[in-house]
Amino acid sequence: MASVKYDYSEMIWNEIRDAAAQDRVALLPVATYEDHGPHLPVDVDVVLATEICRRAAARIPEEVVLAPPVTHGYSPHHMDFHGTITIRWDTFINYVRDVCSSLAYHGFKRILIINGHGSNTSPLDLAARLTVIDFEGKILCASANHWGLRQAREVGKALRDSDYGGTSHGGEYETSLYLALKPDLVEMDKAVDNRSPLPNSFKTDLLASGHPEGSDARMVPYWSSISPSGVMGDATKATKEKGEKFLEAAINGLIELIRELRQTPILERRVQHGDIPDTKWKMT
Ligand SMILES: [Zn+2]
Repeated sequence: MASVKYDYSEMIWNEIRDAAAQDRVALLPVATYEDHGPHLPVDVDVVLATEICRRAAARIPEEVVLAPPVTHGYSPHHMDFHGTITIRWDTFINYVRDVCSSLAYHGFKRILIINGHGSNTSPLDLAARLTVIDFEGKILCASANHWGLRQAREVGKALRDSDYGGTSHGGEYETSLYLALKPDLVEMDKAVDNRSPLPNSFKTDLLASGHPEGSDARMVPYWSSISPSGVMGDATKATKEKGEKFLEAAINGLIELIRELRQTPILERRVQHGDIPDTKWKMT
């Protein structure tokens, strides 16, 4: 039996039509190119997001299609480090919104954005919400960070060797994952442990939620002002072995989330305004 196609870019248009009719989830990896310290290439976020999505889709091809990734994101605060490519926040939101809307127009009712770059989180939340509004609530569109997937968080917390703050940008988590995927490109002899100088409420850690002794506030200063190397975390604790386990957990967490989204009902709106011409009004 021929294997089920899941890679959108390799599918013929009528296969895409059929995949949408089968109510498969459209999976969209989104990332950015930016510095990740003196030991990692600039494609870390792209590689991690796309590989987690590709491997999850390959395991459940009849439930999902893998859309072509959006590889440029929002990262103006990283421009002090060479290599960063950033897209204006409104261009970025509208670009992802248009990609999601194209998928919805072709019949996909469940769209899942998987993000690999922290500062894309807020714009992608809006892109997903705007897509739902554009289609008047008749489709579902969600976004998630790959490090926020349930099993990634659980396994990550159990396996990490660094304390709070060790698994942020270019730290133990991302470096381990990259070691599992493209080990020849990692220069571990240059890995460093750089931590945020900010008070607890403004520190970040990918695998933990807020700092236990701080409030969950958000503030993003220029990256070069808080990290001399670009790293935020403890890259020296990264290993390929941990990366392989983190990767497996993220893939399993993503499969779980895809299945949750497939089971999510698309509920009817309860419009209170009757059948008046203005019911199509929306404030976006
Ligand atoms: Zn990153």
